[in-house]
Formats: sequence, structure tokens, C-alpha cells
Amino acid sequence: MSKKLVILGGGESGIGAAVLAKRQGYDVFLSDSGVIQPQAKKVLNELNVPFEEGVHTFSKMITAAEVIKSPGIPYTAPVVEDLIQQGIPVISEIEFASRYTRAKKVCVTGSNGKTTTASLIYYLLKNAGLNVGLAGNIGESFAFQVATQDYDIYVLELSSFQLDGMYDFKADIAILLNITPDHLDRYGNDLMEYVRAKFRITQNLEKEDCFIFCRDDHITMEHLNHIILKAKALPLSQKITVAQGAYAKEGKMHVTYGKEEFEMFLNELALQGKHNVYNSMAAALSAKIMNLSNPQIRESLTSFKGISHRMEEVAKVRGVLYMNDSKATNVNAVWYALESMDTPVVWIAGGEDKGNDYSALFETVGKKVKALICLGVDNEKLMMAFKDKVPKVAEARSMEEAVAKAYEWSTPGDTVLLSPACASFDLFKNYEDRGNRFKEAVRKL
Ligand code: ADP
Repeated sequence: MSKKLVILGGGESGIGAAVLAKRQGYDVFLSDSGVIQPQAKKVLNELNVPFEEGVHTFSKMITAAEVIKSPGIPYTAPVVEDLIQQGIPVISEIEFASRYTRAKKVCVTGSNGKTTTASLIYYLLKNAGLNVGLAGNIGESFAFQVATQDYDIYVLELSSFQLDGMYDFKADIAILLNITPDHLDRYGNDLMEYVRAKFRITQNLEKEDCFIFCRDDHITMEHLNHIILKAKALPLSQKITVAQGAYAKEGKMHVTYGKEEFEMFLNELALQGKHNVYNSMAAALSAKIMNLSNPQIRESLTSFKGISHRMEEVAKVRGVLYMNDSKATNVNAVWYALESMDTPVVWIAGGEDKGNDYSALFETVGKKVKALICLGVDNEKLMMAFKDKVPKVAEARSMEEAVAKAYEWSTPGDTVLLSPACASFDLFKNYEDRGNRFKEAVRKL
């Protein structure tokens, strides 16, 4: 009899896991406590996978040899706790899929910059003619691609929620960009738990593997002292020079891996801003490890087109630049956004607060922000934090209202920046919806 596999969650990762599990001959059952999209149901029906929605029937799960859990479901969900108590292993779709591919894996995690860096590395490797896929928290799921493609290399964007369910998975190149408090609601408000989740990217690394990390990030550096790392340690820094790894100094980045070296002027990089220097260094270093030539790396780092909703230039209207940084859902991302501004800023922020401490922004906001528009259902905390730090503060309940106010308050030479520091779910479907509504409102001006 085939082994029974239960999949919790019928989203992108769950459906991908179902496709792969069926191909591998498992007896699969999928359960989602919410609504499963019609397209996903169609796939399940075609695969002959029984499923349920709106409920988790425990008796249908108890016979599972293993459970694959969507990253959106917390370990504290009652159904997950019950399964674990029964001794049933609960893993992530990434862990499951990794068993069925021999491809090399370049894995990117961090509190901020994952999508940007993973996309950039993918772009470099693909441009160099390698047979590479991009998966994880981005695009089609890893499991689906493992089931349907035959890539030699994967670039995987990994969130802490995916890493939580990973045990035997091994990266070839593991990248930890930074750690700043985020998602603490899912980690019992314990920063260490979140740090440990992020560091799972290093588990199982062997001495021929590489670990790329940020030498300037104090939470990373502190925790690095407490783990045993077999892999080659390759730091990134914008503060000190490093013998192996990458650093930026006096407008230039320097990358060294073994005896290989690569240099490039920062002003030639497609992605500008201090945070993107780290992302570009991580990408260049990965590319060097994967044996790309210096001209290949330089060409791709120059020609990469940024991705939507991350410091995306929308339009210039009457001399005012409108920028969409809707993906900035935490304080640290906003800090980097404001840091890269060299014009006065009309700042649109707000949404669902995840327990933010805004004090890290006070200095840069004081210097650069001429007006703040708080866009959310409950703006109290944001207004209180900045009412004495910014000359003008207003509230808005819709994107149109926020953009109209920004238009009224800006003058030629300013930048209107949507960089919310908060989640979007109070007024929008998700950060993409928020960013798209911003772009529509700007285009209507
Ligand atoms: P993630 O996938 O980790 O959420 P993204 O690449 O989507 O990261 O970027 C999210 C936000 O973080 C954007 O607002 C972006 O400008 C900012 N950001 C990107 N890279 C970094 C970095 N290395 N450090 C801090 N902030 C960053």
C-alpha cells in the first residue's frame, strides 16, 4: 500500500506538493480550513486527490505517514499541534520537494531583500546560459517545478515559515541577508525563535558549501558565534574590508572567492540604494561561486530591471516623482527606502501594524520627510509616533484619498513615497493590490 501524505493548505505550495506527491506514488489527501480556489480544485480533481475545505477532519489525517504544511499555517494551529502530538512529522513543501531533485540549490533568506536578491541571482545565472529555476516564496512552487521541470540549479527564496519545516534539506549556497524583528507574532514575540528559524538555512551545510551573510548585521553576527558552521563563511560588508566574501568601499564593490576576484563601481549597478548594494554583492558573490565570468556578472548587474512594488518608479507628475515601495511592510525596509532619498519626501505609510517600534525612523524622517499621510483603518499609533517629528500629518482611508493629499502637499522636486512599514490587509488584498492601487491613482492624476 502506498504511503499516505496529508497536505495542509490548498494554496500555491499545497497544490505543488500534491502534484509532486502524486507523481511519486503517494496516497494524498488535502485539507484547507478556508476556501480553495476553483483553479486549484480543478488540479486536484484532475489528479484524483481527495480534498476538503472549510474544515480539518482530524480522523482523515491521523493515518498520514507525513504532513506537508503550508507556510501560512502556524505551528500553533490546533490541527498542527494535534498532529505533532500524535508523532506525525510536519514538514514544509520545500523539504518534501528537495528529496526529489539533485539540482544545486542557491537559497536566500533574511528579513528584507529576499525576493530582490533571489530574482537578481536567477537573472545572472540564466543570462549566463545555465539551466536554472526560481522558486520558493516566489512564482510557481518548488514542488511543482521539481515535478514538471528538469533544472540543474534552483534559486530558492525561503521565508522563516518555510525554514521552520525544514530538517534534512541542504543548500549548496546559503544566503542570510539580514535579521530584523519581523513576524514576531508567529514566534511567541521571541526574537531568538525567529533568529533560530532564519539560521536553519545553515543546517546540514558541509565544508564544500558556502554561507553568505551580512557582517554589518549585529543580530546575525551575535548568533553566528553560537553555531557550528562547517561551510565556507563569506561575509558581506559596507563597513570593513574582507579577505573572502564581498565589501563595498569608496564607491566600488570588491568580491573575492578563493583566488577569483571581481570589482565594479556602485554607480553602475541597476539597483541603487544602500540596501541593494548588499543584495548586489550577494548576487555577485554567488555568481562567482557558480563560476560566472566577470563580464557576465557586470553585464547582468547593470541590466537587471527591478521588480514591482520595491522602490519602483511609477511616474513623474508636475515635477514630483511617485515611488511604489508597497512591499516595505516593516520598519527596517522603510529605513532603507528613506535613506536612499535625496529629495524632500511626502511619505505615505500605515496599514496593519505588526508591533512596530518606529523610533529607528525618527532621525531619517526628521531630516527627509516634509509630510506624512497615514493610510490605514487605525492610524493612531503612527500618528502619535510622528506628529512631533513631521511638519504635516494627515489621515486617509483610501488610496485615492492618500494620493490626492500627496499631490496637494508636494512641490516640484519632491518624491511621494509609498513605503508603509505595515501589512496591507486592513484596506487591501495584499501588498501587490496596495501597490497597484497606488499606481492607478497616480496615473489618474
Ligand atoms: P523580501 O522578499 O525579503 O520581503 P523584497 O526584496 O521584496 O524583500 O524587499 C522588501 C522591502 O525591503 C522593499 O521595500 C525593499 O526596498 C527593502 N529591501 C530590499 N533589500 C533590502 C536589504 N538588503 N535590507 C533592507 N531592506 C531591503
